[in-house]
Amino acid sequence: MARPVCTQPERMTIQIIVLFQNLGEDNPYYAQSPAPPLPGLLLAALTPPFVDVEVLHEMVRPIDYATPAQCIALSFMDYLAPHAYEVAARFRAMGKTVIGGGKFASTFPEEVQPHFDAILVGEAQQMWPRMVEDLVAGRLRPRYDAPLDSCLDGMPPPRYDLAEPAYATPIVTEATRGCPHPCTYCALNIKRAPHRTRPITDVIRDLTNTRGVPWYKRKLAMLLDNNLGGDLKYAKELLGEIAKLKLWALGAQFSIDSLRDNAFVEALAKAGGRMAFIGMESLSPESLNDVQKRQNNVGEYRGAFAKLHRLGILTFTGLMFALDEDTEEYYRRLPALLEEVGTMVILPSIAIPIYGTPLYRKIVDEGRLVDDDLSHYEGDHLVFRHKHLTPEQIHAAYRTVVLGFYGWRAIIRRWWRFLWMQERHESIVRFAFRLAISSGIYFKLSVFQRHHAQVRIAQGPGRSTVSRQANMRAVA
Ligand code: SF4
Repeated sequence: MARPVCTQPERMTIQIIVLFQNLGEDNPYYAQSPAPPLPGLLLAALTPPFVDVEVLHEMVRPIDYATPAQCIALSFMDYLAPHAYEVAARFRAMGKTVIGGGKFASTFPEEVQPHFDAILVGEAQQMWPRMVEDLVAGRLRPRYDAPLDSCLDGMPPPRYDLAEPAYATPIVTEATRGCPHPCTYCALNIKRAPHRTRPITDVIRDLTNTRGVPWYKRKLAMLLDNNLGGDLKYAKELLGEIAKLKLWALGAQFSIDSLRDNAFVEALAKAGGRMAFIGMESLSPESLNDVQKRQNNVGEYRGAFAKLHRLGILTFTGLMFALDEDTEEYYRRLPALLEEVGTMVILPSIAIPIYGTPLYRKIVDEGRLVDDDLSHYEGDHLVFRHKHLTPEQIHAAYRTVVLGFYGWRAIIRRWWRFLWMQERHESIVRFAFRLAISSGIYFKLSVFQRHHAQVRIAQGPGRSTVSRQANMRAVA
């Protein structure tokens, strides 16, 4: 008698794609970014175990249209929406179910929904598992609205084992969400949400849940908060716990006012802090005031950055061009001002009036918006008329300042100055190891930014198909 054959129904596979190429796929650019963005790895962790899940970061490899996955979940930011619609259309034509989500889909669901079989509006942690259940049961609805969760407890650790091998620092997580500041260009101020913190034990569990990650990558981590300094008491407690993990390097993002708190700076250094992303944005007090970035005091920059540098923590600072109060005289003085405040690495961009922000509304009300092609809202195009300056003046300043900053001599000079500022509180061996790690991070970031300066800024934004500026731009 023949033995009965045990057949199991085919398991569904969901491929999560985090989009990156914003101006087309004909001439793509793959970034040497040290760390992945968080959404893809977190969504994979939230996916119920009765389906298989994969993650593809378009930042480091092309979309695989031959994937056998039955469902594609696209995560994208606002300037990537036109690309997302094209990718979704192509997969849907192949009979795949395509789901969209992310900040833009959550803010403008009516615009996004027609391009997808379903969209997730809001935060994924509560709603994504239910969407996957409905998908598998064949009852997927076109739209799922997740109410704002007041509590971030119990989120699973991101699936670092699914991070692309190209990432040097796959261990990324968030400890907080939101920010108390009112900066008018910031996407967080489209719809205000409270600043929320996660349980410290959850964050520590994320940082230690490194199964499947090569050993030499387990000691490097990034906290990708909007603003870790939004609750300094919490931040110091968290950093105290992270210090026990003896990381080789920790990166964090926070607003510059956090540096007035010396205990926070010391806690960051003890936790292995080696890189701080800070939203410096401008050295013009008038421009900062105009975008309500009042927590930034230009007179404090030099001292605040030096405090970090002496402890071996690199400063990586945002720098915006085309803020409304910028002048030609300011741009002429900018290279000297940057030298004076001593920032180590800059993330330059032309101001982006992100749809829905107070800055966007102001520019529209004043009739100054001249380009509504969303794919140009990436930080290398000027999409509005400036109050005092011509586009030529702004682009010339952007090019001159950034190319000068990322000349090799300037890069080496900053590294040398950083080395001479170091204070030694440890054995000579540990000190040398710390300097080696800081130097490695410094050159990685500088080369990454120099490449952008040469490809996107020197040749003009139309010459390349990507801006990783907007992707990289952490909002603190
Ligand atoms: S730009 Fe930075 S400091 Fe300003 S609101 Fe956004 S996260 Fe906060």
